[in-house]
Amino acid sequence: MKKKVYIISHSHWDREWYMAYEQHHMRLVELMDDLLELFENDPEFNSFHLDGQTIILDDYLQVRPEKRALVQQAIDAGKLRIGPFYILQDDFLISSESNVRNMLIGFEETQKWGVPVMLGYFPDTFGNMGQTPQMMKQVGIEAAAFGRGVKPIGFDNQVLEAENYSSQYSEMKWKGPDNSEIFGLLFANWYSNGNEIPAEEQEAKAFWDQKLADAEQYASTEHLLMMNGVDHQPVQKDISKAIALANRLYPDYEFIHSNFTDYLAAVTNDLPEDLGTVEGELTSQETDGWYTLANTASARVYLKQWNTKVQRQLENIAEPLATMAYEVSGSYPHDQLDYAWKTLMQNHPHDSICGCSVDSVHREMITRFEKADEVGKFVAEEAMRQLSQVIDTSEFPEDTYPFVVINTAGTAKTGEAVIEVELERKKFAEGLPETLFKELEDAPVKSYHVENAQGEIIPAIVSEATVRFDYDLPKDRFRIPYMEKVVTVTIPLEEMAAFSWETFTLAEGKAPIAITDSMVSDQGRVIENELLKIKIEENGSLTVLDKKMDRQFEDMLVFEDTGDVGNEYIYKQPSDTAPILSNQQGDSQVEILVDTPEIAQIQLIQTMMIPVSADELLEREQQMVVEFRYRKAKRAKELKPLLIETKITLRKNSRKIDFETTIDNQMKDHRLRALFPTKLHVEHHEADSIFEVVTRPNKVSASWENPTNPQHQHAFVNLHDENYGVTIGNYGLNEYEIVDAGQIALTLLRCVGELGDWGYFPTPEAQCLGQQHFQYSMEIHEPNEKFASYQHAYAAQVPFTTQQLANQQGELSSKNNYLEVDAKTFAITALKRSKFNDKVVLRGFNLSGNEEEMVVQKPGTTNRLLNLLEKDSKQTIEPTLMPYEIRTIGFEEEK
Ligand SMILES: [Zn+2]
Repeated sequence: MKKKVYIISHSHWDREWYMAYEQHHMRLVELMDDLLELFENDPEFNSFHLDGQTIILDDYLQVRPEKRALVQQAIDAGKLRIGPFYILQDDFLISSESNVRNMLIGFEETQKWGVPVMLGYFPDTFGNMGQTPQMMKQVGIEAAAFGRGVKPIGFDNQVLEAENYSSQYSEMKWKGPDNSEIFGLLFANWYSNGNEIPAEEQEAKAFWDQKLADAEQYASTEHLLMMNGVDHQPVQKDISKAIALANRLYPDYEFIHSNFTDYLAAVTNDLPEDLGTVEGELTSQETDGWYTLANTASARVYLKQWNTKVQRQLENIAEPLATMAYEVSGSYPHDQLDYAWKTLMQNHPHDSICGCSVDSVHREMITRFEKADEVGKFVAEEAMRQLSQVIDTSEFPEDTYPFVVINTAGTAKTGEAVIEVELERKKFAEGLPETLFKELEDAPVKSYHVENAQGEIIPAIVSEATVRFDYDLPKDRFRIPYMEKVVTVTIPLEEMAAFSWETFTLAEGKAPIAITDSMVSDQGRVIENELLKIKIEENGSLTVLDKKMDRQFEDMLVFEDTGDVGNEYIYKQPSDTAPILSNQQGDSQVEILVDTPEIAQIQLIQTMMIPVSADELLEREQQMVVEFRYRKAKRAKELKPLLIETKITLRKNSRKIDFETTIDNQMKDHRLRALFPTKLHVEHHEADSIFEVVTRPNKVSASWENPTNPQHQHAFVNLHDENYGVTIGNYGLNEYEIVDAGQIALTLLRCVGELGDWGYFPTPEAQCLGQQHFQYSMEIHEPNEKFASYQHAYAAQVPFTTQQLANQQGELSSKNNYLEVDAKTFAITALKRSKFNDKVVLRGFNLSGNEEEMVVQKPGTTNRLLNLLEKDSKQTIEPTLMPYEIRTIGFEEEK
């Protein structure tokens, strides 16, 4: 039998990258124009693979709306192969839910046109998430194609030490942590191995001799794949001629213009017995470790912080509130949320969220973040407006100011709820604004306290009253501007249940309890509660004593600054330079910000002397496109002070210490990290990844040449042994490294001046100059509290929602649990309504690798198991959560 060569025409379409979005966009219009013309003129042209992302269709029709019918015709005829995703994401830097919505919306968009190519398509993704097999299977996809993460080794090569990451063939089985298995296809010679096929005999022979040998080196079957295209590649118009020539030149082969559907059917039918299996996340390609591109996790940290904020706004605030408000309104803003999600996901392609594009690309991203965030806020405010009209406050005295606090996080939350309570309002209709302002300002000062529905005093902090402008936008009449007098109320709450609310009231009169207890001593150098004693040393580092476990940790929260002569993709410390450490930089100052029995907050102020940039050689090496590994540039001799201000917060009954660090960065070409030496000498650590707490080795393999080993995280990273553990939480700080002696290094900021990759693209804004703000935390935990510390890190990313209420009778109880959740290891990622039937949908995953008990109930409903597309699953719902299971539950009203 002849060997078959499947030639698939495609173009890998980075929507934005080394040029501004519109520069790429206009070239996309040209590509699509060419394609539609070619489909008409060349009947032999089988099909074009539209890069697995449906957004390309929107991008084209935005400019050429009149081509819709022609596009539909090409899809109907099987010429244009589309889907299944909305965009080609970076798996690791977007949330679990964002990864799901990319499929949910991608499938929906595809179905508007036709049927999707049933292939998980990750050609260029910078490493692949471990739960891909389970996620693909849950949407009915049995195969995934990827270009990175596995090293192909061919028949004769020895299997490498890191066996997990290598495969003798370009085809393999890919098994997830839950044991789901799919077919994995590695583009072993990249997704361009059949690009620009010559249609002239001499060149064609040279081309095919090489390309066939390359493909056969790794192919496990007689079906060879040739990807005819590459990044932003124009379509090869004479491909039919080139294929006819190949068939004439190589009679032992059959060359066909093909598509993934046909190729996958053929190859999966013929797989050999000895096909290898790769397991879990695929994050290694080169043994030297440079090209995992993991340092994109710290390029332009501001993008990652924005992304976290908008994801939390949509996933954990807008959707849960809209889900609850449906009970009142009977409607759910599906279209508005889809619009917000699509806008957010336009920032999720691998060159976008990774921060490895030119400045103009990332400036446009900020606008998209702001747009998606505003839609999310609008949806949340509308939901709160609807809920607030029907929450009963009749238990509270008439002359008080009731308000509600909602925990919209999928886990119990400890922290402070903040609400601005309006005491008095004067509408502009009543007088001149400035007169109204003064009247409110001059009214006598009163003191206030907070009570719960039982009349118990809550230890809240009530600010001085202030006057400000605000307005109402009624649904049925013109806007109403006014002046209002407000106080800001801060209430400490302990372990408030997931998806629950409680109502309080602000009443006149001083709180009768006097504050006698204090958590702060030694002029602010010591913070202490029942569990911890934190000492802020003169050098600014923390000595933390765990009183219950009787363990002491020194040199916590030391800041480390190093030079970086790399680029947006890759960190490279200049050779022969040493890190600068904050605890070797002189004395620190402290200031007491808050000291109550419930919460203590200290401001720690330090100064580090840091080189202003790299030396002049760096720019010359960049211009000469000297690869970062061979650069000789060092740090500049000139130093400047970097002021580091860190708020340190500790609450009663809690081991979690919160940090908020602010700097005004005026230095270039450097990286700033916070160090946490845990004294844990263990082989592995755990990190929050996509629907998975992934276990990773602390040490790299012997063949690894990169002196650093950066890794991705979402909400936390953890080191533990059988006696204790330490969880470092964060907000939008996606890069960490486990360094010597059990030290967790958290990257706060990485500043570089160029994009990197295939040329010189200056990126001054990637230096991240100006005010920078970082939020992170440290929690020491006992052995049985590991999962609780993970849930604390999740909860910390979701602020309490608050809303002032009228004094009213209402149909909703003043205190309520919307869902009963009792599941220590179930991390909830979504509470939303199904687009198909408006039913409540809850999604989450097992943090644990063991079978775990879980109870999730909504009164008056029964549970159904759904797949990731939120359609009824064929399986029945089990009471036990399986290891690493991703579970979507639909709530069905009892009849
Ligand atoms: Zn790409």
